[in-house]
Amino acid sequence: MGFSTDAIHAGQEPDPSTGAIITPIYQTSTYVQQSIAVHQGYEYARGENPTREAHEKNVATLEGARHGIAFGSGMAAIDAVVCILDAGEHFVMTENVYGGTMRLFARIRSRHGITFDAVSTKDLDAVRAVIRPETRMLYVETPTNPNLELTDLRAAADLCREHGLMLVVDNTFMTPFFQRPLELGADIVLHSSTKYLNGHSDMIGGIVLVTDDDLAERVRFVQYAAGAIPGPLDCWLVLRGTKTLAVRMERHDHNARILAERLAEHPAVRRTIYPGLPSHPQHELSKRQMSGFGGIITFDLGSREAARLTLEATRVFALAESLGGVESLISVPAEMTHASIPAADRQRLGITPGLVRISVGIEDVEDLWEDLEGALARVTAARPALG
Ligand SMILES: *Cc1c(COP(=O)(O)O)cnc(C)c1O
Repeated sequence: MGFSTDAIHAGQEPDPSTGAIITPIYQTSTYVQQSIAVHQGYEYARGENPTREAHEKNVATLEGARHGIAFGSGMAAIDAVVCILDAGEHFVMTENVYGGTMRLFARIRSRHGITFDAVSTKDLDAVRAVIRPETRMLYVETPTNPNLELTDLRAAADLCREHGLMLVVDNTFMTPFFQRPLELGADIVLHSSTKYLNGHSDMIGGIVLVTDDDLAERVRFVQYAAGAIPGPLDCWLVLRGTKTLAVRMERHDHNARILAERLAEHPAVRRTIYPGLPSHPQHELSKRQMSGFGGIITFDLGSREAARLTLEATRVFALAESLGGVESLISVPAEMTHASIPAADRQRLGITPGLVRISVGIEDVEDLWEDLEGALARVTAARPALG
């Protein structure tokens, strides 16, 4: 089946008891058994829930995985993957990962004896240089947030195979509609389903996708034993969300390409970062490993004051953290999503005070441009004073 057909149907059969075309929200904690240990495969809802299973099968199909294992947040999904490592083991990760991911690894899991090195994974020699005998995993985010740097997934998978490492990819930004890491050789894909998979900014969730049965069993055990499961309503919301994933992603991408080109030409903008622009240093790699460029654009206005003038002036773009919803959002990573990163590291990663990130929604693109252009006009007017 094609992607859109799977998005709408995979994991979902008409409800066996009523024929309801939409999978019900099985809002239950336990299941009645016919006799001791005689039941229909459902015992207790931390372990099994039909709405969750439908959501897990649905996203697994879209990623080309055999197993989906859902969690109560993207962070819980990421933590479950780290939890399959043992104390004393080591992993390598993209240095510019999602801020919460860095916080989890650096401030919690490293206290439990799981160590890591953070390097720029766009340079695989930098990865090679920190691999040790205890290294088990390479954890990659591509493109990164907010600088949209890519890691060559096929080359990373080859490197991992050579050294016996698992390749884990956070595919939140691209979704399986534009990027399928398992097909490029990754072992584990994960998402914050809060973002594009759900797409409507009305729940928090995460999911891990795996093909290897043994690996899936290990992550499934963490889900059951540690218990960071999503509730059935949230699973149902993502099930509804993925039905429109294909049309939403096409529109996010369409709108973002137009806005990126116009931002790149705008005199108030110093630099526009978008993988779809030929000026992106990894534009060729983007075309090779992604089938679209997504809905996130980052641009540099040169100063905090210029960023403030812009963020306070937009009306359609809402000033908020997060991304991937139908509505457009605008933020300043240095003081919002990436505020927990030490200032020196932010500087090194190029997350400067004037850097603005937008999550381009699926509104009418001309309304979005008019909104941005109006806000940027304030920067142009103030430029002599801003320097
Ligand atoms: C939001 C996000 C996360 C964390 O997910 P939550 O659902 O907020 O817990 C992880 N990775 C990326 C790339 C994200 O954007």
